[in-house]
Amino acid sequence: MDNQKLSAENYPQISANALRPTYIEVNLSALSSNFDAIKKRAGKSKIMPILKANAYGHGLVKVAQYMENLGADYLGVAFLEEGILLRESGVKMPILVLGGILGNQIPLFIENDLTLTASSIEKLNLIDEAAENLKAKAKVHLKIDTGMERIGVHYYNANKFIEKAFGYKNIIVEGVFSHFADSASSDLTHTYLQLERFNDALNFARKSGFEIPLKHISNSGGILQLPEADFDLVRPGILLFGVYPSAEVKRTVPVTPALTWKSRVVYFKVIKPNHPVGYGMIWKSDKQIRAVTIPVGYGDGYFRSMTGKAEVLLNGKKYPVIGRISMDQIVVNIEGDSAFNNDEVVLIGRQGKEEISVADLAEWAGTVPYEILTNINTRVPRVYLR
Ligand SMILES: *Cc1c(COP(=O)(O)O)cnc(C)c1O
Repeated sequence: MDNQKLSAENYPQISANALRPTYIEVNLSALSSNFDAIKKRAGKSKIMPILKANAYGHGLVKVAQYMENLGADYLGVAFLEEGILLRESGVKMPILVLGGILGNQIPLFIENDLTLTASSIEKLNLIDEAAENLKAKAKVHLKIDTGMERIGVHYYNANKFIEKAFGYKNIIVEGVFSHFADSASSDLTHTYLQLERFNDALNFARKSGFEIPLKHISNSGGILQLPEADFDLVRPGILLFGVYPSAEVKRTVPVTPALTWKSRVVYFKVIKPNHPVGYGMIWKSDKQIRAVTIPVGYGDGYFRSMTGKAEVLLNGKKYPVIGRISMDQIVVNIEGDSAFNNDEVVLIGRQGKEEISVADLAEWAGTVPYEILTNINTRVPRVYLR
């Protein structure tokens, strides 16, 4: 590793040589080709990369700056502080904060030129009042709940909401959006119902003469399976990082995983028969084996629930993790093979002809790929490769 490949984001400044051997490599060319593939699929619709939860573990600021370079039209994050961090890092492009807001946060949105999600008439009142006090205009996207019951005005009250939103002096209604609850499924019944409810609200707006520049609903599942839901803009999250949102989703857009999680062997030993490994002594062998210890654990987001199932790549081969996954260490059974200190270990990604995917870890941990990616702790350094 040379210094240019290192990013200090989320990690103390130390020299490249002393860097923790456990790190994430983010392949920027993969991000770029995934972005292009999504853009090709979405035609003339704008692209809003969704970069919440540290850009799905890939590093918020770096990925945002890269998306800005690639020509993304808008960025989406979950929370106010994510938006502020991007502004403080010099990101100039429009940013929509997707989550629910509280009244006392509104001035910070306006001062940082962040687009607000307005999810009720009450919130619109608060936004208008805050904007008036600041002698500014607030840019909002109206959130319609078409069938998820998190935030947003219910589709059956959407007409009144839209009509009211256009009556404020200090609010610019730039967009209207909704969110799919099940668009990566093989059964799209609920998704089509949501799409119909969204279209009804938009038809009302059009007939009433309300001009809404950015109408959007599609996440990764929608982009893959419902081109008719593109509207003016699409909101890819996980797909941009080269991971499919579910096992059954149609893979209509070819993408490559951008993230590789690597570590190195820091210890080699021989384990004698009947000498248990790790907390709780849940694993032991009746024959002698060779094993290596790797400096990664659940404190990095390598889930303890993968105990008994996880495998890693070493010398181009898959080997099982044995004993309980600890906070900072795992032990790998290499049976009769050889390995040495400093040998590269791949936790997620390719080595030689073998691959361990984010979906594999999700299966071992009994969760979804999203949770694997977003839980890789910020103490794991991120390294960016072109
Ligand atoms: C997270 C999120 C997305 C992106 O979802 P993916 O399934 O990762 O594509 C899009 N829109 C909203 C509102 C979200 O919260």
